[in-house]
Amino acid sequence: MLDKRQFYIDGQWVAPLAGTDRAVIDPSTEQPFATISLGGQADTDFAVAAARAAFPSWRTSTKAQRIDLVRSIFDVYMRRSDEMGAVISREVGAPLEMSKTQQARTSSSHFTGFLDALETFEFERPLRPDTPHDRILCEPIGVAALITPWNWPMKQIVLKVIPALASGCTAVLKPSEQAPLSAMLFAEIMHEAGVPAGVFNLLNGDGPGVGAQLSGHRDVDVVSFTGSTDAGRAITRAGADTVKRVRLELGGKGANMIFADAHESAVPNGVMRCFNNSGQSCNAPSRMLVEQSRYAQAVEEAKATAEAITVGGTSEVGPHIGPVVNAAQFDKIQTLIASGIKEGARLVAGGLGRPEGIEQGFYVRPTVFADCTPDMTIMRTEIFGPVLSMMAFDTEDEAIAIANDTDYGLTNYVQTANPGRAQRISRELRSGMVEINEQRRSTGAPFGGMKQSGTGREGGIWGLEEFLEVRAISGWPAD
Ligand code: NAD
Repeated sequence: MLDKRQFYIDGQWVAPLAGTDRAVIDPSTEQPFATISLGGQADTDFAVAAARAAFPSWRTSTKAQRIDLVRSIFDVYMRRSDEMGAVISREVGAPLEMSKTQQARTSSSHFTGFLDALETFEFERPLRPDTPHDRILCEPIGVAALITPWNWPMKQIVLKVIPALASGCTAVLKPSEQAPLSAMLFAEIMHEAGVPAGVFNLLNGDGPGVGAQLSGHRDVDVVSFTGSTDAGRAITRAGADTVKRVRLELGGKGANMIFADAHESAVPNGVMRCFNNSGQSCNAPSRMLVEQSRYAQAVEEAKATAEAITVGGTSEVGPHIGPVVNAAQFDKIQTLIASGIKEGARLVAGGLGRPEGIEQGFYVRPTVFADCTPDMTIMRTEIFGPVLSMMAFDTEDEAIAIANDTDYGLTNYVQTANPGRAQRISRELRSGMVEINEQRRSTGAPFGGMKQSGTGREGGIWGLEEFLEVRAISGWPAD
């Protein structure tokens, strides 16, 4: 059993002041393998005080100093990225190879996105060339509380910690209690890279404890949160008394609209994308809408794809999906699969219970429902497991209406060979991101949602702006 009952505060590893113990469970065995501490109010106050004390000095650091620091962190991070992949694999159950490549190594694009943004970003500038006496100052907001989820733990941490520090804020990171060990390794990386004491602090804790304490803390100026929409609401309420800046990256229920003229692998690719990371992605295309003339064939293709997916342990080699993260998530997914069956969706692959031959671990059968209707629970709730809901549509307008008929608005997907249609639909979709014909977003593009998928935009210049306050000075003396 690993003993990880420590926090990283003010440049050193410290024992908790008020913590309670919590076991970290391996999702593929259901067995505990490490113990962490969940901090209490005294720990929160200590970490926030350290960040507050470091702020006056870090706030005045130059852009060149911040670029140098981000580069150093990036270097150490890349050197230790396989180690990071192994830690993430154990705590969230992602297959080892996938964890090293997708979970750990792809965070590198966020580093480069922020470095590029920093190079060009003007923290101080005239309002316009013809207004030399109007000066715009983009200044760090102050102490940032960064609260992250477990599903892509390192991407979420890099997407918050790096822009917070790059913009001149100091930070207290509270990672998910489900994925605390990767965050502790990240703190080691920060230490090795020479981050000044107090500029970055790490505190483990749960939502009602450290999460709530940070969200309402008088000395926290901005909360950047990624996680469920329910927790986002609670954090917004907790921050209201002190009018905190609150940035929210919340859940999703993405639609993948497949037209008859879509490329031939659109359906299998859509299924695989939905089931990647065992379906635990905020931007998973979990509703597949297929044009009527291609629908029957699409259901057969989705069934075959799902049935060909193997489910297995983290150390197994080859393409497969791992377990979901914990018992609560496993139970929630089972309840939602049962609701799909009860509400009359047609189960074409997978279903209730663990995959055949697996007795232990939070493994879920890759599941496909056909003939869904927009009112069904499985079409409205973020399932966060390998479960796909399919339905047919007749017209472009109908497809858009179904896609937009959700409280969420994170990412939608369009597959068509018709460029005019792709553009029309993209303009009509109420989501922060649209992906046409499997073209991924480039480094530095903003990631974030509309409606109840959140208010924030992460990555590149938009990610820096989340941590900046814009000030206007008039009467600025000429140089
Ligand atoms: P969660 O909301 O349960 O927890 C996320 C984090 O918030 C954890 O650190 C948790 O301890 C903390 N937390 C929970 N309740 C809190 C409270 N009342 N006050 C303060 N902190 C609190 O979410 P999760 O299960 O860890 O992650 C899955 C969710 O995250 C899904 O809904 C997914 O869509 C969402 N997500 C969104 C994005 C995005 O960029 N939009 C990315 C990844 C995950």
